[in-house]
Amino acid sequence: MREFELIRRFFDRGPARKAVLGIGDDCALVDAGEATLAVSTDMLVEGRHFFADMDPASLGHKALAVNLSDLAAMGAEPLGFTLAMALPRADQAWLQAFSQGLFALADRSGCELVGGDTTQGPLNLSLTVFGRLPRGVALRRDGAQPGDDLWVSGELGGAAHAVRRRYAAMAAAQGLDGRTLAGPDGVASAQALRTGFPADVPALALARLERPEPRLALGMALRHLASSAIDLSDGLLGDLGHLCERSRCGAQLRVERVPLCPGLEGLDARERLSLALTGGDDYELCFTAAPENRPRIRRIGQELGLALTVVGQIDAGDRISLVDEDDRPVAFEGRAHEHFA
Ligand code: ADP
Ligand code: MG
Repeated sequence: MREFELIRRFFDRGPARKAVLGIGDDCALVDAGEATLAVSTDMLVEGRHFFADMDPASLGHKALAVNLSDLAAMGAEPLGFTLAMALPRADQAWLQAFSQGLFALADRSGCELVGGDTTQGPLNLSLTVFGRLPRGVALRRDGAQPGDDLWVSGELGGAAHAVRRRYAAMAAAQGLDGRTLAGPDGVASAQALRTGFPADVPALALARLERPEPRLALGMALRHLASSAIDLSDGLLGDLGHLCERSRCGAQLRVERVPLCPGLEGLDARERLSLALTGGDDYELCFTAAPENRPRIRRIGQELGLALTVVGQIDAGDRISLVDEDDRPVAFEGRAHEHFA
């Protein structure tokens, strides 16, 4: 059973009764007097979401960044977070670096650590973030309309390229399964998890993987302009699929317009397409907006110094069609990342 079927079958009990919005979006929404509270939890597991030799300061940054990205996707302003962690040992140098990376991002995002839980065990970081919105303005996955432009922020594929290059190098060196972190025998793979990245991975791609930037200012600026939004954690095709499903619409994606992380130009065309469509972990925003909002959205991109690109249109269908610049269908058989797939 795949991740999303598992959630649907055992945990999704239909529309929320007390919350404004329950399972199925980037954050849950809860009424809190004048304001709406946005809440999201994300867990990072060693060997699954990060390599065992990841620099602890980057890990502190990323643990919070992936959570803040869900607030960004709703257009929420960060308030606070809790931190639940299992640690194999109390390593002071590790904790010093981890907390420094965590608080550097927390401080510049205005997000305060307000509680948590600490226990001994295999390294596991689970954060819950809280953000605030005026009532009724949250960017949800279910608001896209046929005719809307489809936008993405930043450039895609860098994070996934770094991961793929490392798996490929690991597989070549150790005869491991190149697609997953878990090798055939636990000891060999544990060593392989500490081998570092191949030298040919562009620094920018590695930075996208280890220091993703939650697009908080963009999410807040889009509050009255975007009709829907989602953050890109599992890859554009999969995450856009969630947005279309929730909005009951289809999309036409112009694959050549999807902006790719600089440094990946030399890869072959199939690999570039695969990174653009199914490369996860970029934590950019994918959003929709009426075409008349284009000039205002472009101005926001200029003000933030962030590339914002129209990559297609929402339509009334029930599928995502991939087309080139001459409107010809583009063949692609890859799929988005899902746990338990
Ligand atoms: P995201 O990538 O934004 O963190 P996911 O794709 O991981 O979201 O999850 C999809 C939806 O399922 C979200 O609304 C999330 O809150 C919900 N969800 C995931 N796991 C559980 C669970 N164990 N119980 C309840 N809801 C869950
Ligand atoms: Mg999300």
